Amino acid sequence: MIERLAERRGLEIQSLPLWSRFPREKLLDRKGANERAYRRGFELDAYSDDERFFPSFESCVEVGVDWRSLPWTEWEFVVGVDLASTKRPGTFIVPVAVTPENRCLILEGLPRCGSWSTKQLADELDKVDHELSPVSIVVESNGVQDAIVEGFKQEQDRFSWASRVEGKNTGRADKVDREVGLPSMEVEFANHAWSILYAKRHPIDCVCATCVLVDQFKVYPHGDLTDGVMATSFARWKITTLGGQLLPDLPSIDDVKRVADEEREAFAAALKELQ
Ligand SMILES: [Zn+2]
Repeated sequence: MIERLAERRGLEIQSLPLWSRFPREKLLDRKGANERAYRRGFELDAYSDDERFFPSFESCVEVGVDWRSLPWTEWEFVVGVDLASTKRPGTFIVPVAVTPENRCLILEGLPRCGSWSTKQLADELDKVDHELSPVSIVVESNGVQDAIVEGFKQEQDRFSWASRVEGKNTGRADKVDREVGLPSMEVEFANHAWSILYAKRHPIDCVCATCVLVDQFKVYPHGDLTDGVMATSFARWKITTLGGQLLPDLPSIDDVKRVADEEREAFAAALKELQ
């Protein structure tokens, strides 16, 4: 209808409306592939906190902080790399900064993702090393991926970072094993041991690697792709082995939830009093 209307008025259509890009078959395909993601995307049924692995992640995103104006050259960087496989189309590189106060930072513009050959991946790691000189580059090394990790390690003459590459075998290559360590990250997010820093807010549909990574954390485990979350978890694993626990006196997640519940009850009581 909109097309006809525009035609009658002699207006040029710049982009097609969303619905003409999603015929019935395409929608059914999407629904079949991931029904919960479909309900979120097409029926506006948002995820509840109970459904998400990292409900506290969003509270760690800070907009209005240009990290390049901070003393970032004093920070240590650890890089996590989740390699593409036949099941997952993209490779994710996530540099995580660790401040002297032992806080972890994900910085606008630093994560990278793409469908790269091994040579292209090496070029990307060259750029990362040139800028950040990470103390470690942790690469997932399950099965065939191990050949890539070993290949890098043996090329110390070619790659300045080769001696700092470390393989991370997550055991059986199934999803459960890949999630080891992820629940403790929610405790860290709830306690703001992490910040994701943006100088400016990006558009809601931004597809830069930083925004893709943030979105993967927000919807985990419901998203179609999780490689950014995994790459971050590899970096975090290394950080905890380098400097001990990220926050030694961290309360348990139950304690965090209990405090939140108490606050909510107190707020409800105060509200009742006002009425
Ligand atoms: Zn973005």
